[in-house]
Amino acid sequence: MAKKEFKAESKRLLEMMVNSIYSQREIFLRELISNASDAIDKMYYRALTDDAIQFNQEDFYIRVHADKEARTITIEDTGIGMNEAELEKNLGTIAESGSLAFKKENEAENGHDIIGQFGVGFYSAFMVADRVVVDTKPAGSNEAYRWESDGVEGYTIEAGSKQETGTTITVYVKENEEEESYDEFLDESHLQSIVKKYSDFIRYPILMNTEVQKPKEDDSEEIETVTEEKTVNSMVPIWRKNKADLTEEDYNNFYHEKHYGFDEPLKHIHINVDGAIRYSSILFIPETTPFDFYSKEFEKGLELYSSGVLIMDKSPDLLPDYFSFVKGMVDSEDLSLNISREMLQHDRQLKSIAKNIKTKIKKELQNMLKNERENYEKFYESFGRQLKFGVYNDFGQHKDDLKDLLLFHSSKEKKLVSLAEYVERMPEDQKYIYYATGESIDRIEKLPQTEMVKDKGYEILYFTEEVDEFAIKMMREYEGKEFKSVSSGDLGLESEEEKKESEETASEHKEMFDRMNELLGNKVKDVRISKRLKSHPVCLTAEGEVTIEMEKILAQMPE
Ligand code: ADP
Ligand code: MG
Repeated sequence: MAKKEFKAESKRLLEMMVNSIYSQREIFLRELISNASDAIDKMYYRALTDDAIQFNQEDFYIRVHADKEARTITIEDTGIGMNEAELEKNLGTIAESGSLAFKKENEAENGHDIIGQFGVGFYSAFMVADRVVVDTKPAGSNEAYRWESDGVEGYTIEAGSKQETGTTITVYVKENEEEESYDEFLDESHLQSIVKKYSDFIRYPILMNTEVQKPKEDDSEEIETVTEEKTVNSMVPIWRKNKADLTEEDYNNFYHEKHYGFDEPLKHIHINVDGAIRYSSILFIPETTPFDFYSKEFEKGLELYSSGVLIMDKSPDLLPDYFSFVKGMVDSEDLSLNISREMLQHDRQLKSIAKNIKTKIKKELQNMLKNERENYEKFYESFGRQLKFGVYNDFGQHKDDLKDLLLFHSSKEKKLVSLAEYVERMPEDQKYIYYATGESIDRIEKLPQTEMVKDKGYEILYFTEEVDEFAIKMMREYEGKEFKSVSSGDLGLESEEEKKESEETASEHKEMFDRMNELLGNKVKDVRISKRLKSHPVCLTAEGEVTIEMEKILAQMPE
């Protein structure tokens, strides 16, 4: 049987695609600029093998200009251009990517910086345009062409009048509708912010008109506002620069430019990986807690770039929750994007990057704890709680990643100590890691339960945050030493002999304890003689896993 080809209602297809695959209209500019960059890249690669083509860096640029009166945006490039057949093929066929074909042809040597691959990005212009005109003159030819379409009734190709090699795309911005305004896309400063957001690291200059204030040339010392054409993109991303050439200030500037935070970051981590998956990343550990950090509104995530073009503002999958305070970005050319280039097709690559990043952050924090204690404590002040939540969540799954990063106040030193430090100086006969919970250090110090433990010369960790005790319950032990609350039933301080002695004393006073139990009724479970008291007559203790403090917290939780 002869196979028939699918027919597609291209009008419908175009409409569907344009309006459903992209989450934001503004990305049309990202797509057109990416195409312009690809076109210049192709010139560059062509020049490597074709002597007839010269590639002088200065001759290559992308120019973006808006005209409010004419309601147009033009994107002009000095790239390779298109001949008639290419116009037909690349802009007349949805999902036909000349760039992907180019990349495949040149795979071995070069071409991996080329962005295009799906053959749909161009049509995103119709999200804001009711007419698009493409004027193009291919490299090495004297002919120019004009392609034109309203995105509904098909397209036309005719002879054009473009003088220089390259392509100019004119986007006729839609008239405002009742509830939709398109005017923002005619505002050059708004366009500039879109360029900055998505296309800042396009490797060719993007020229735009900007208003600058200047002293007048007539020496009158007056300032005037003039319009000047300027390169608006940074071009070379800081993460592609050599670490040795970058200063702390460069990283801090990047941190502020990207609005990662208002503070000065405590630490930056610059990663370049050239393994099975290639990626670069710059991460920051901030100093201060963002105001919404411990609220539901806070969104974790890193910026995700594919070959220098922003794909996602906040990719949450790149960071585990317990490192959600980390800010920064990842750029990789090895991601398989979905058609809108806003999401990934496989998260395999992302997972592997995320795992790698997690290890680097952990190492950096460990180094900080070891070598820059003061800085680490600043960090811990802001984000320590998040680490403890990390130990507690998912049934303590991450405790091994985090246990060495935890710090607590202690009875021995009026500062934060790590569990390693605690265990290191434990006397030989001490079996447990002791802790006491309370609202504040002051309050804990006054707890009768702490006296005996301290008398023994044992150190006590002070838990002042609700999450503390829950977290160590998940850990159960550290280096084989179990955690023990000073208010738990058996503190493990007495020898067998001492235990027997207390039992005897207890039975001698049985009558009195029975009477006390009777009077208190079911307010307490039992009244017993205690060996742990020194200067206080009585104290409360709990039996089993849940301590009194935990009970209080659990009682407050919503059902
Ligand atoms: P993609 O970029 O994913 O290939 P597009 O729909 O954005 O898909 O573009 C389709 C094709 O049109 C490109 O692959 C390229 O061959 C061609 N093209 C688009 N814009 C230009 C341009 N400014 N200069 C030269 N060729 C272009
Ligand atoms: Mg494209």
